[in-house]
Amino acid sequence: MAQNPDVDIQQYEFHLSVTDTNNEIKGKAVIDFDFVNTTDVLQLDFVAVDAKGKGMKVDSVVQEHNKLKFAQDKETLSIYTSSDAQVAVYYHGIPKDGLIISKNIYGNRTFFGDNWPNRAHHWLPVIDHPTDKAKVSFYVTVPKKYEVIATGTLQEIFESGSTKKYLYKSPVELSTKVMVIGVAQFAVEDLGTVANVPLTSWVYPENEKAGFYDYAIAEPILNFFTQHISEFPFTKLANVQSTTRYGGMENAGNIFYSEKSVDGKRSYEFIIAHEIAHQWFGDSASEIDWPQLWLSEGFATYFTNLYAEYAYGKEKLDERLQKERAEVIAFSKYAKTPIIDSSRTELIELLNPNSYQKGGWVLHMLRRKVGDAIFWKAIKKYYQTYAYSNATSHDLQAVFEEVSGTDLELFFKQWLTQYGEPKLKLDYTYKNKKATITIHQLQQSNFEFPLQLRITYANKDAEVIEVQVTKKEQVFEVEVPETPTTIVLDPNTNLLFEKG
Ligand SMILES: [Zn+2]
Repeated sequence: MAQNPDVDIQQYEFHLSVTDTNNEIKGKAVIDFDFVNTTDVLQLDFVAVDAKGKGMKVDSVVQEHNKLKFAQDKETLSIYTSSDAQVAVYYHGIPKDGLIISKNIYGNRTFFGDNWPNRAHHWLPVIDHPTDKAKVSFYVTVPKKYEVIATGTLQEIFESGSTKKYLYKSPVELSTKVMVIGVAQFAVEDLGTVANVPLTSWVYPENEKAGFYDYAIAEPILNFFTQHISEFPFTKLANVQSTTRYGGMENAGNIFYSEKSVDGKRSYEFIIAHEIAHQWFGDSASEIDWPQLWLSEGFATYFTNLYAEYAYGKEKLDERLQKERAEVIAFSKYAKTPIIDSSRTELIELLNPNSYQKGGWVLHMLRRKVGDAIFWKAIKKYYQTYAYSNATSHDLQAVFEEVSGTDLELFFKQWLTQYGEPKLKLDYTYKNKKATITIHQLQQSNFEFPLQLRITYANKDAEVIEVQVTKKEQVFEVEVPETPTTIVLDPNTNLLFEKG
């Protein structure tokens, strides 16, 4: 739901038990919170039992030894209290979504949290908005044969009879979209401490050999990001094979990848890089609201490209950028929306090339505009300022303006709030050692940008010049030694544009 203006959650302590008998879970959520405004109701996001019997039934709510009155409707739990002393919510039910209880590719039973964007409230009573961050601990009781991975650091495993109880605790505040548990039979590899972070791989026992090989690629990725952004935000990094509906889901400190992520060929290298990049951008420094999702996905997309450039060179960067540019152009043919898009009612629709590829391209153009040294300095500053918190695109702009000393108002405005991208056509004439080059912007709204041109001559000599395009149709006179054979737009893959 939307932000709840009355409440600020401080801490969740979830006690959950799952069994092999049926798909019902039993839960107790102990919640520390503050009322920010005077109110007599604590309203949480929580899905009630539907006509098919799926959803959560609240059995009781207790505050300071008193049972409180409460009401459940479709997606809300209203607890009637004017005190912000700790409450405990006791509940049970079969999750309709959010905690996926199913069989994996090998026919074995598994339980995986899959909360993005606001599906945590299918199995946890929470405030399901990315701005209400809270500390979290998970006490998870499972049949003995399973292992449990969860957000935070493993504190203890209690054994009793046929069950085990795991306790994980996160010392830092998180959005509900990235707090999860995973319960399955796993083979676990300890890769030791990498860049000060305990690094582990969790795969299905059938995939042990291939999976340990595939997930070990996390080591150089983690090193690269840690060196370029900051210390890793969380107390551990576990890469986990799971049943997530996504290719990968960037849960904080324990990333869940799809079952297909393991093939012994490291095919998921760049997806692993994407999800690891999210630990800083998305999980720690999060978007303030869903329409600003590019602050998660655009960053994860571009930081994957930065890793690709570091690991495989500039050709790899250009190859990825060109592919992503084509995806942005194709998308803009039918979705006439800008990156910051408040028009979507289905949040899943925001998982589109505007948030990912175009967002990544904005960061690439920003890097080219301010230069590498200032880019990295501003990225570090932005991260440090908004770590464990939330940011807007305007916050990002302000940091880049401060660090670069450049006015970036137009840059951010046109790329984030204007639909589409430049569609460019070039023509030229030659006379008396002068080329007269005309750049036509064929799209509807005007863009301003630096544009590189590669001018090639009959003897195969070439030079690259840069011009500032500010108008829909603009003429540049360039001194040249002879008549050019070709003039190529954007030879270094620096501009998001379509050839007209
Ligand atoms: Zn992502």
